[in-house]
Amino acid sequence: MNQKIILIWYRNDLRLHDHEPMHVALKADAKIIPVYCFDPRKFGKTAFGFPKTGSFRAQFIIESVTNLRHNLQQLGCDLVVRVGHPEMAIAAIAKKLNVDKIYYHKEVTSEEITVENNLKNSTDIPTQSFWGATLYHLEDLPFPIQNIPEVFTQFRKQVEKKSTVYPAFPTPKNLPPLPDIEPGSIPTLEELGLEPPVFDSRAVLNFQGGETAGLNRLNNYIWERDCLKNYKQTRNGMLGPDYSSKFSPWLASGCLSPRFIAQQVREYEENRVKNDSTYWLIFELLWRDYFRFICLKHGDKIFRKSGLQGVEIPWREDWEQCDRWRLGTTGFPLVDANMRELAATGFMSNRGRQNVASFLTKNLGIDWQIGAEWFESLLIDYDVCSNWGNWNYTAGVGNDARGFRYFNIPKQSKDYDPKGEYVRHWLPELSAIPASKIHAPWTLSNAEQRQFGVHLGVDYPHPMVDLQQSVRDNRRVYERALSQNR
Ligand SMILES: Cc1cc2nc3c(=O)[nH]c(=O)nc-3n(C[C@H](O)[C@H](O)[C@H](O)COP(=O)(O)OP(=O)(O)OC[C@H]3O[C@@H](n4cnc5c(N)ncnc54)[C@H](O)[C@@H]3O)c2cc1C
Repeated sequence: MNQKIILIWYRNDLRLHDHEPMHVALKADAKIIPVYCFDPRKFGKTAFGFPKTGSFRAQFIIESVTNLRHNLQQLGCDLVVRVGHPEMAIAAIAKKLNVDKIYYHKEVTSEEITVENNLKNSTDIPTQSFWGATLYHLEDLPFPIQNIPEVFTQFRKQVEKKSTVYPAFPTPKNLPPLPDIEPGSIPTLEELGLEPPVFDSRAVLNFQGGETAGLNRLNNYIWERDCLKNYKQTRNGMLGPDYSSKFSPWLASGCLSPRFIAQQVREYEENRVKNDSTYWLIFELLWRDYFRFICLKHGDKIFRKSGLQGVEIPWREDWEQCDRWRLGTTGFPLVDANMRELAATGFMSNRGRQNVASFLTKNLGIDWQIGAEWFESLLIDYDVCSNWGNWNYTAGVGNDARGFRYFNIPKQSKDYDPKGEYVRHWLPELSAIPASKIHAPWTLSNAEQRQFGVHLGVDYPHPMVDLQQSVRDNRRVYERALSQNR
């Protein structure tokens, strides 16, 4: 019998461990052709004109693809790389090499699904998709996807009670060689129309793309530095590499599998300690699962201005204010420090993301989609479901059952950065201000401004809005929209 040839189309699953398409192909003793396509549409512009994939993430993806190729080569195979629309490039390779089947990991949002459908339409070769990005498998959910609870806690409780996390698929030990085909070169950032990012030494980590670096971070965070045992207490921090796992960029590109992380957590629990913190990392990964399943259920709704709830809020589009938010010159140190960190490094903590998103939507009343697209452009860990899902949630158009919720920015700043270290790290112009004043510099008297070497309105801006008044105004707008919706 002829040996089957299976083309494995790599997407956001840039790894060898826990890779079901690869596992199934090898079990069938097939020849494999791993392919990755740099799709020019991913490097275009967002609706508001930001680069869809900015240089931080583009560099991370290039590194991840390079590492995948290297790891495949080490096992005797290779990665075919093309620049072009996957539906055309994959179909062409499959035809040329007489492929029997095309395997890939399924995505759940519209742009990605369109490419999958286009591929099916442009080839007669059968395709097969696999579910592989979540902790819990789609088929093991205790409800059909149309009945998935809208509220996270209900989702979590049911899956925790009734579902199990499957074990990760093993990493192959060797691979059949690639058939005769030009492997193709990996494009440079310049070829993708981007400038190389400059590494900022204030960054939480020097994120390096690829499965190897992802596994190293996992090993380092969990085993070598033993950070997992305190994760629940530290996870709301903002400064340094170890307050949280920083697994997100590797998870988003599929360099790390959540099931593999869960397996490592279980091993840690057996060998070191099992406590609230070890549970909490899995709890957070469940948020990631939840947003992916919610996207599968609701399709394009997550991208609409009216969000999952369909609330027609008259959002503002004030670019002068928006630019102050983007550049970190709002006059609120916590917001400014976080926005400058994002622009300088492509990363921001979860605490930061919640605060800046709340400020944009609940204090400025600005269209949350601008914020979501700005994040999409800059984040190294951009994940379509987590990003748009969280923005829906924070803007109050998602399935957050608690209505108009906002963050009290100076209070959050005091609670999560009590000594002002994080703010000083990103706002050097405030470095001489003591902790008691740094979270609200607008309260400094003229004498104090002279004493701490900061001239408000010159060295650092006055607050761009009145926090309380703006919350009251935007709450009114929100509640009116909600009542008209009923
Ligand atoms: C407005 C907004 C936008 C966001 N955009 C993204 C995004 O594009 N990509 C992304 O991966 N995360 C996003 N998040 C979620 C969260 O902020 C990041 O996952 C987290 O900060 C990454 O750091 P970490 O890996 O150290 O997280 P840890 O605290 O170590 O958490 C471990 C993992 O759990 C998952 N996780 C944690 N919190 C969340 C959450 N709220 N939603 C979904 N998954 C979560 C992530 O995969 C994370 O890597 C967003 C949050 C907000 C509020």
